[in-house]
Amino acid sequence: MDAFRKRYGDDPDVCHHPAIRNTEACFQSSALAVRLAQEFGSRLHILHITTEKELQLFEDKPMNEKHITSEVTVSHLLFCDDDYSTLGSRIKCNPSIKTKSDRDALRKAITTNMIDTIGTDHAPHLLSEKQGGAFKAVSGMPMIQFSLVNMLELAEQGVLTIEQVVEKMCHAPARLFQIEQRGFIRPDYKADLVLIHPDKPWKVCQENILSKCQWSPMEGHTFKAKVEKTFVNGHLVYDDGRVDADYRGAMLTFNR
Ligand SMILES: [Zn+2]
Repeated sequence: MDAFRKRYGDDPDVCHHPAIRNTEACFQSSALAVRLAQEFGSRLHILHITTEKELQLFEDKPMNEKHITSEVTVSHLLFCDDDYSTLGSRIKCNPSIKTKSDRDALRKAITTNMIDTIGTDHAPHLLSEKQGGAFKAVSGMPMIQFSLVNMLELAEQGVLTIEQVVEKMCHAPARLFQIEQRGFIRPDYKADLVLIHPDKPWKVCQENILSKCQWSPMEGHTFKAKVEKTFVNGHLVYDDGRVDADYRGAMLTFNR
């Protein structure tokens, strides 16, 4: 037990989280939802696909030809169960982080039409709430600040192309939810833009985490790409470390 505690720190049992919330539970619940959608002809979008096994529930064809679609989160594309030993409850989320082969299958699925969109599942819990391992620590992690740079890093590693990052994170969500005037750089669309420096290495530390929760599973990680500016509705809200906290966004509108 001591060696175990040494390895997993204060979260000696968090590595069991994927055994508690396991592959079979994920498959059965996703399969039930798909079965009901097929039976009643409903439009269905399943979030947070985490296992290779669930991929058999989806079809590799263009999104507009399907009425059952799916999403994977940045966290499930990044982490696998090996990471519980170093990150403990920080990467505890629901559905749980699964095996490396699940992660690799998900990475492959985003290069096809099997998985349609990539989400952030941003959950900025306090670090104090993330204590206590599999049974007590709350689930979820703050990922929104690091979602794009992580995906660009996967693109750099050859997991997918930059065009696929844009497709799965911007174009497809806008089309899927029929969001008006967003998700594309087009005349008459809202200018939601991000300016990236592709080669400006920076290390994640407490001081540059913008979420109020002040921690990240990415702490200590060095990214090559850096967000320099972010525009929301054409308004510069983030400029090289400074956030315009006075600016408020606008409610999304839909074409439906
Ligand atoms: Zn979620």
